[in-house]
Amino acid sequence: MSRFKDKDGNPTDYSRAYHNAYFKKWKSQRRMQGFCTTCATNKPREGKKTCERCAAQRKKQYGLDSARIALAHQRRRNDVLMYYSNGTMRCACPKCPETNMKFLTLDHINGGGTEQSKKLGGSVGVYKWAIENGFPPIFQVLCYNCNCGKNKRDHCPHLDM
Ligand SMILES: [Zn+2]
Ligand SMILES: [Zn+2]
Ligand SMILES: [Zn+2]
Repeated sequence: MSRFKDKDGNPTDYSRAYHNAYFKKWKSQRRMQGFCTTCATNKPREGKKTCERCAAQRKKQYGLDSARIALAHQRRRNDVLMYYSNGTMRCACPKCPETNMKFLTLDHINGGGTEQSKKLGGSVGVYKWAIENGFPPIFQVLCYNCNCGKNKRDHCPHLDM
């Protein structure tokens, strides 16, 4: 027998849909009664659904979440750049001395980077994609300068010097 009961006390299957519907209803009830939809205790802020305290808490949680996400991205970026630079963390342009990871970026050796990046939702998506696809040999590490030079004139201006 199910451990969960609906509003009339009848046993019911607990599902995500049921859960969502329940909380949606619960929240709209709280809202109509003039309470914060999160804690159901305090008055909501003017024109908002949640109270001062819940909003602050949520903001804090959001900050923690985004810090965690940023860190995960940083790790992935580090792994990918490390792999494609053969552990050297330097620009692949033979005449470029750039080794600062902050200036390094993943370059599509044969072009098409902009389209792929768009498709994957920006550089974050490209790093993920590279890992998930087992580091395909279509990338190299370039610094922003060399990458920009290569994209504008087919080859990096360093090579003209
Ligand atoms: Zn609240
Ligand atoms: Zn460079
Ligand atoms: Zn260069």
